Amino acid sequence: MGDLDCIVVGGGFAGLRAARDLHDAGRRVALLEARDRLGGRTWTRPFAGTGANVEIGGAWFTPGQDEVVRELDRYGVGTRTYPAPSRVRWHTDGVLRDGLPVPFDEIGALERALVTIAGDGARARVGTLGPVASQSCADYIVALDVPRATAEFLAAWWVMIGGTDPARGAIIDALQAIASHGGVTGLITALRYAPAEGWSEFARRMGADVDVRLGVPVARIVDAGGSVRVECAGGTVLTAARVVVALPVNVLPHVAFEPPLPTATAEAAGTNAGRSVKLWFHARGIPPGSLAAGRGAGVSWLYADRLLADGSVFALGFGWDAPGLDPAAALHAFWPEAELLASDWHDWNGDPFSLGTWATATVGKADLLVHDRFPPHGRIAFAGADIAPHEAGWIEGALLSGAAAARWALAAG
Ligand SMILES: Cc1cc2nc3c(=O)[nH]c(=O)nc-3n(C[C@H](O)[C@H](O)[C@H](O)COP(=O)(O)OP(=O)(O)OC[C@H]3O[C@@H](n4cnc5c(N)ncnc54)[C@H](O)[C@@H]3O)c2cc1C
Repeated sequence: MGDLDCIVVGGGFAGLRAARDLHDAGRRVALLEARDRLGGRTWTRPFAGTGANVEIGGAWFTPGQDEVVRELDRYGVGTRTYPAPSRVRWHTDGVLRDGLPVPFDEIGALERALVTIAGDGARARVGTLGPVASQSCADYIVALDVPRATAEFLAAWWVMIGGTDPARGAIIDALQAIASHGGVTGLITALRYAPAEGWSEFARRMGADVDVRLGVPVARIVDAGGSVRVECAGGTVLTAARVVVALPVNVLPHVAFEPPLPTATAEAAGTNAGRSVKLWFHARGIPPGSLAAGRGAGVSWLYADRLLADGSVFALGFGWDAPGLDPAAALHAFWPEAELLASDWHDWNGDPFSLGTWATATVGKADLLVHDRFPPHGRIAFAGADIAPHEAGWIEGALLSGAAAARWALAAG
């Protein structure tokens, strides 16, 4: 038997939840985290050059995401409500529009497309979508057979929800997200709450009583039968009766497992197609509460979040990791009248401890990035938002899957 009852690898919300629950149940548990901070793909930090905090990674939750709501309550973390958009700016078929997103004669096509999307979302949720699930967003929109402005409008929303190149990500995850969060409008009306003190502070509070070891990237995990040995890049070696691996799916191929992962798991490791770029702008000349979407210059969906005392605003935008993204061009594609003061972001796709953003299945392979491919492997269990049985891709999913991994470790003794 090892020195510890359990080692949790990864200090995002899945690992934090698993470690916290095991600690609360009286188990000897250590959490090993590669970075020098907790929170993983969430990160609250000051916008470069300003003192104001922004969410560089995951930000919003919906009122229906019960685990998030319960956990924030538990730690006395307040909720910040982002105002609903009050102005819109669309860029479709080469035209900047302040009212309807498409020309009036395309409204019927847009309505038909939204009805189809809502129906497919409902089917995606209950698993009856069939081969459409693996289709790329680009092909899905072609099949909707809509005019150009409508197609560009829909593709822009994909970039915000699917988080990758429309040609690269399978449509399934976006349809499930739509179905789970109040239909096609739900992502604006429901997804606008965040912890008032920021996710990083929430992560700190969640890990406060746990034996957390920062700056220790795990390189190798050996299930020796009676115990599991965890070897870190700097030479630290720990053993425990059980290990919970709460790593991003794209990081798994970079950790050595002995015995090797089963084929079904190994095939799925590394297949998160999520490659979002979340770009923050500090700008003047954009009314707060503005939403913009459409064909942009590297960023397809933007929201002017907060008015500062000097009349400037923070806006955030979503694109994907296409080379040559120019923040000024990205902003001016929607608001040519705006003045860009500064921009800020984190490259989650190049970061070796995430290697991508939120879970989106790869085109043609919707059957890979699924919970069933990650059953416990001997004394090792897997957790994480990417592979969560419910609310996959979301902070909610991370918490749920961490809780399930803790239950597994407790039941195993
Ligand atoms: C830009 C962006 C925007 C997003 N927006 C939202 C949103 O609005 N709402 C929402 O709900 N979700 C959002 N998400 C998704 C959400 O943030 C993630 O799905 C969730 O936080 C993942 O949690 P996790 O614990 O599964 O993984 P992670 O948070 O990635 O945690 C894994 C941990 O493992 C660590 N690690 C990696 N390699 C090693 C190693 N070798 N050894 C030890 N530790 C290692 C990492 O450093 C990390 O701390 C967003 C994500 C991004 C990137």
